[in-house]
Amino acid sequence: MIPASKHASIIKSTANRLGFDFCGIAKAGFLEEEARRLEEWLNRNYNGEMGYLANHFDKRLDPTKLVEGAKSVVSLIYNYYPENKLPEKPEDIKLAKYAYGEDYHLVIRDKLNEFLGILRDEIGEIDGRGFVDSAPVMERQWAQKAGLGWLGKNSLLLNREMGSFFFLAELIIDLDVTPDTPLAKDYCGTCTACIDACPTDAIVENGVIDGSRCISYLTIELKDAIPAEFKGKMENWAFGCDICQDVCPWNRFSKPHHETKFKPHPELAEFTNRDWQEITEETFRKVFKKSAVKRTKLAGLKRNVDFLNTK
Ligand code: SF4
Ligand code: SF4
Repeated sequence: MIPASKHASIIKSTANRLGFDFCGIAKAGFLEEEARRLEEWLNRNYNGEMGYLANHFDKRLDPTKLVEGAKSVVSLIYNYYPENKLPEKPEDIKLAKYAYGEDYHLVIRDKLNEFLGILRDEIGEIDGRGFVDSAPVMERQWAQKAGLGWLGKNSLLLNREMGSFFFLAELIIDLDVTPDTPLAKDYCGTCTACIDACPTDAIVENGVIDGSRCISYLTIELKDAIPAEFKGKMENWAFGCDICQDVCPWNRFSKPHHETKFKPHPELAEFTNRDWQEITEETFRKVFKKSAVKRTKLAGLKRNVDFLNTK
C-alpha cells in the first residue's frame, strides 16, 4: 500500500509524463468566497445568454457534489501557445489561438482518462472524474488554490513561467493528497494593459468580465445576431479573442507547445480574408474537421465574418 505522503509525487510525475506543464493540488471543499462572487456576477447578468452558467450552482462550488467523497482537486495546465501565429495584422480576420488545431476537449479528455488509469494502477482503487471545461467546475479558482498562479485583471489564471495561453483541466478524486500552497500575492501590480486594450470594455473591474460584452461570447456563445453597438469594435476577431492575453506582459514568457494535434490545418495557415468570406461547407468541414470552431457551425462563423465586414 502506497502511503498518502507519496500520492502527490506520483500524481505530479504522472502529469509530467502525460505532457502537462504544471500540476497543483488543493483540498476539495465548498468554495465560499467564490459563491458570493458568482452570485453577484450572475445577478448583474454578466453571463449573457450563457444560462448554463447559472445552472448547477451548488455543483459548481462544491466538488463533492460532482464526485462523492471527493478529497482533492488536481489542477493541470496544458500549453497551447503556437509556434507560428496565424496572420494577426489589424486587417486580417482572426481566430483565437486555442482554436487553431484539434478540439482541446477531446485531446485533453483522453489524457485525463489515461491519467486516472495510471493512478489506479499505481495507487489502487480511486473514485474520480476528469474535467476539461466540460462540467461545472471553477477551474481557475481551483488552479489558484493549488498554487499554479493568480487570477489576473483579465480574470484568467496567470502563471509566472507561462503566462496564460494554456488550458486548465482537473481531476477530482477521493484520494487524500498533500495540497500545495496558493501564491501569497498577485503579480499584476499596477498594470492595466488588458483593461485598456479590451475593445468592447468587457473588463468592467479588476478580474470581472461582463461576459455579454466579451468578443469570445459574441462570436461563439451568442446565438442571436451580434448587437449593432459592437460594430467596428471587434478588431476582426471571427472566433474568440486573444487581445487581453496578447497584451499581457506575462505572456512574454509563453513558449510553443509540443502538441501536434494543436497545429492548424495547412490550409488554415494560408487563409486570406477572401477565403474567410467565401468559405464553403466543404472547406469548413475539411479545415475545422476536429476543431472547436465546429461549435458555431458554418452559419455562425459566416455571421461573425459578415458582421466584421459590414458597416
Ligand atoms: S477576450 Fe477580448 S473582448 Fe473578451 S475581455 Fe479579453 S480583450 Fe475583451
Ligand atoms: S495585462 Fe496586466 S493587469 Fe492584465 S492580467 Fe496581465 S499583468 Fe494583469
